[in-house]
Amino acid sequence: MNYYSTKNKDLRKSFREAVIEGLPSDNGLFMPERIPQLPQDYFKNIQDKSIREIAFDVLKPFVEEDLKDDQLKNIIQKTFSFDFPLQKIKHNNYALELFHGPSYAFKDVGATFLALCLEEFYKDEQEKCTILVATSGDTGGAVAAAFSKVENIEVVILYPSGKVSELQEKQLTTFDENVKALEIEGDFDDCQQLVKQAFLDSDLRKKLNISSANSINVARFLPQMVYYFAPFIKFGNAPLTIAVPSGNYGNLTAGLIAQKMGLPVKQFVAGANRNDVVPRFLNSGNYEPKATIQTISNAMDVGNPSNFQRMIDLFSEEEIREKVKGYAFSDETTLEIMKKVFTKNNYLLDPHGAVGYLALMEFMKSSEGKGIVLETAHPCKFMDVVQKVTDKDILPDSAQSLIQKEKKSVKMKVDYEGFKEFLVG
Ligand SMILES: *Cc1c(COP(=O)(O)O)cnc(C)c1O
Repeated sequence: MNYYSTKNKDLRKSFREAVIEGLPSDNGLFMPERIPQLPQDYFKNIQDKSIREIAFDVLKPFVEEDLKDDQLKNIIQKTFSFDFPLQKIKHNNYALELFHGPSYAFKDVGATFLALCLEEFYKDEQEKCTILVATSGDTGGAVAAAFSKVENIEVVILYPSGKVSELQEKQLTTFDENVKALEIEGDFDDCQQLVKQAFLDSDLRKKLNISSANSINVARFLPQMVYYFAPFIKFGNAPLTIAVPSGNYGNLTAGLIAQKMGLPVKQFVAGANRNDVVPRFLNSGNYEPKATIQTISNAMDVGNPSNFQRMIDLFSEEEIREKVKGYAFSDETTLEIMKKVFTKNNYLLDPHGAVGYLALMEFMKSSEGKGIVLETAHPCKFMDVVQKVTDKDILPDSAQSLIQKEKKSVKMKVDYEGFKEFLVG
């Protein structure tokens, strides 16, 4: 499988090259040159398959020229080392919990897969690699955990100062030497812009091997296809509606590719907070990026989602508007549904899952069958919000000890030259 740039279909890179480079030099995004098809009868016996077997079948065609079967199996075993349980919320509606990994968020899947791919690719190299990652909260923690024991790789995490939760911040700032945290006095888009600028800086790229760990890296978003198969292991080949709380739209894009491979998803529903550029596009046909608005579902505070480029590369605008229904919700509505679901259904949603659940409920008003919301993070990552719902102690033991640790970060203004100096100096 080769990968092209969304800005230049003639550009062709191997999986290895696309992973190492992160972003093509023309500022597009890498895309697989074709979407492999699963055999028609693949879903007949899906209930007998394990998530790791499925991961191997799904991912192999995307990586086979660069990873041998046993390498891929080893990476899959470590990446899919935790469960994706389905919890009933009410009637036909379930939460697929994606947060049982090391940083309590679905991003552990992509981050771990990427870290292990890079570890393989850099094994025989003399040079080191520096991973640059901008985070609105959750990416950084997942990346820090995934890379903290990986050799020959340095990680620099940029996060918006004061805009991530206490636990999230500790997950970014308490690792050893190879994981550094930069506290940027700006918002997530500023962080993302600094990283993008670094990738376009040929002078910097001569001095450093840089790569990205954002959802723009193909090794981040491809493995996210796999857990979309989990509800089908439980329910068989039944039509399912899947709601995805969305910010940068990497998670949803992975689902769309899984569907294109043959996964019988009946309908995707995108849930957004007040950063509603995609739902507005789905409803009106106009795509108008806006400045980021801060909300209680801060990992989805993205004004101009990168992966929209991938969505319109995969499908015509008309197709997207048919495949994905989109809804946006205020913080007040989000908090309200968290309280309601906790009291009535005894299930504690995190603010992101709550936005997804609201979108699912909205769509289900005029639809039937089973509905699944992806619960993308453990509620303990957002204690300031969750405290308004319950005063129950929900912090896992491992998070308790993390909170005690001392924060180590470097504060920085939104200033590219300063950032570059930090990297090269
Ligand atoms: C990152 C994140 C999202 C949004 O995922 P995208 O792939 O950026 O759309 C949703 N929920 C949580 C908890 C996240 O960390």
